[in-house]
Amino acid sequence: MKKSHFVRVKCPDCENTQIVFDHASTVVKCLVCGRTLAEPTGGRAKIKAEVVEVVDSY
Ligand SMILES: [Zn+2]
Repeated sequence: MKKSHFVRVKCPDCENTQIVFDHASTVVKCLVCGRTLAEPTGGRAKIKAEVVEVVDSY
């Protein structure tokens, strides 16, 4: 079974925190300011923000 989880990230621009799926298949943007927080790579998403927490189930 493929292991995947969610991470809570903090936007470097506005310090908003939000949950991001670490295998996101689309670009994830900050809900507040629109900064790109994660980019899809075909596998694990490239997280472009500070990860503050890993959430195994959400
Ligand atoms: Zn932001």
